[in-house]
Amino acid sequence: MRGLPVTWRKINFNQSKKPDSYYNPLENLIRGTVEFRKTDFEQHKALFMQISEAQFPHTLFIGCSDSRVVPNFITKTLPGEIFVIRNVANIVPVYQAAGDFLGITSAIEYAVQGLNVDNIVVCGHSNCGGCAALFKSAEELSHLPHTKKWLELSKTVKEKVLNILPGDSDSEAREWLTEQMNVVEQLRHLLTYPYIETRYREGTLKLIGWHYIIETGEIFGYNEEKGFFELVN
Ligand SMILES: [Zn+2]
Repeated sequence: MRGLPVTWRKINFNQSKKPDSYYNPLENLIRGTVEFRKTDFEQHKALFMQISEAQFPHTLFIGCSDSRVVPNFITKTLPGEIFVIRNVANIVPVYQAAGDFLGITSAIEYAVQGLNVDNIVVCGHSNCGGCAALFKSAEELSHLPHTKKWLELSKTVKEKVLNILPGDSDSEAREWLTEQMNVVEQLRHLLTYPYIETRYREGTLKLIGWHYIIETGEIFGYNEEKGFFELVN
């Protein structure tokens, strides 16, 4: 992976409030499961029967845990199509041959070696709290020790961003640049996995970087040749 993501466009962002549907969240959850069974499940019954004993996802989707970034929703995919890993700031740890209980690493291994996916998408997003936290002080993150430790995996992103946009730059521009550079960094991390690097070189596994914009529904894709993100159309 080479080059720098430079796509930047200012969007007016009004601080939103919690939707009214949050009034009784537990009741909503329970009602949702019943509605799913009675409507969505019935609508896709044949599909659920077909995939009930095996999965053949075409894509490993690595996204942020953020509640606003819903992989199947934003890609209009059905159950069985995408194998999903979500964590704070859609980070891919650099490959380790051995270690204790490597959750992300084992999920990547299962998707690529076990399920033989054709694509890996790393999807960052606008207003990412994890990316913003890269610029927070140790004191500000003192109540989130594990998050702080986890974000060390993307600390080089902060350095690269500050090289391009120094500390006093437009903070919104820095936000997008950080989110996009973080995606590119995770694509680089994926290539430290020997079996991914081999298949990527052979052309049998595609690595795709996305930046999803919550307030517009747009997805910008990383163009490796040009070295920047452009609207997916
Ligand atoms: Zn996020």
